[in-house]
Amino acid sequence: MSDETRLIRAGALSGPLAKTVGPPIQKGSTVLLPTAASLYDDDNYVTYGRSGLSAQASLRAALAELEGASGVTLYPSGMAAISGALLAVLKAGDEILVADNVYKPVRRFCDHVLRSFGVKVTYYDPLSSPEDLVAGASGAVRLIFLETPGSLTFEMQDLPRIAELARARGILTATDNTWGAGLLFKPLEHAIDISIQALTKYVSGHSDTFMGSAAAREPRLARLLEEGVINMGWAVSGEDAYAMLRGLRTLPVRLARHGESGLDIARWLQTQPEVAALYHPALPEFPGHAIWSRDFKGACGLFSFALNPAPDAAVDAFLDALKLFGLGFSWGGFESLAISCAPQLKVRNFAKDYGGPLIRLHIGLEDPEELMADLRAGLDAYARLAG
Ligand SMILES: *Cc1c(COP(=O)(O)O)cnc(C)c1O
Repeated sequence: MSDETRLIRAGALSGPLAKTVGPPIQKGSTVLLPTAASLYDDDNYVTYGRSGLSAQASLRAALAELEGASGVTLYPSGMAAISGALLAVLKAGDEILVADNVYKPVRRFCDHVLRSFGVKVTYYDPLSSPEDLVAGASGAVRLIFLETPGSLTFEMQDLPRIAELARARGILTATDNTWGAGLLFKPLEHAIDISIQALTKYVSGHSDTFMGSAAAREPRLARLLEEGVINMGWAVSGEDAYAMLRGLRTLPVRLARHGESGLDIARWLQTQPEVAALYHPALPEFPGHAIWSRDFKGACGLFSFALNPAPDAAVDAFLDALKLFGLGFSWGGFESLAISCAPQLKVRNFAKDYGGPLIRLHIGLEDPEELMADLRAGLDAYARLAG
């Protein structure tokens, strides 16, 4: 053979792979099929790399086990998982009820994309009762989209009750379970139809990889989601799927530490004179606490608090004085983060008075005492300008 031909074949896989603890990361768009008959046998063969190879298959299987799902689909980001699930389920003429506290880009997708495709979008107050919510739904409502707790204001909705009432009316339910991370709360066990996660957050755990998942309770819905992914042409890389699988291995110990440090810091913040209110479902005095303690196994490291009312400059001084907390969006990584929430709350239809400017914290894996000292320095800077 000439060098030209030899170079095409050289180094190709020649035998079975060594068995490692994790799955192999296969890279491939083309998949070589063993026979002519298998070329079009999609039921028994992976015929093209876009549908995922070894690492993606391992991640899907692991997530299906974690979520108690009949099928899990993967998406290039958490936002793509949400838009993908909604597009797979909804059609022109349908109506969707969307909790007013959802992740803000979801709202943008609903307003800009779903509406332009003839889907009616109605936002509802996440603090309304499940009975009022479902009784008030029109006959066109096909799906209720939830997020519990909301990732800025932490409203706890009674998901089991909403799912039960919705099911009786033939309405599907889907929830953004990024806070619960598939571990602290299991939506599918509570009759929710689709559990969506931004794996980007706690599953990745290292603030360096995007991915989303949608887990379906029933095989029929799992197939619908799968078709949606095929229709949209989405794919995730083997390297990224491997990174998520690695994150899953340590998810319970990381979440336990995030949760414990988060609650310690929330309790400490309650005692600081500059702090007006805490928004943390694990605090007994939090309005949603009863639902949280009934349905959730624990808390992660994400919560908010309100400073006493003060000019914007004092809020900025608080944030700018922080040294251990980074200023940045996202959460779920090993590092602590802080943001102000006000600009994100402006778009809401049912925003409340939170008692003062709202700050959201993600508590990372640092020493909690040192994080408290950092927050105290921020509160001192705030107090100098708060007057
Ligand atoms: C970050 C986030 C998403 C989106 O995830 P990406 O991977 O960044 O697209 C969705 N929902 C919630 C609650 C989030 O915090």
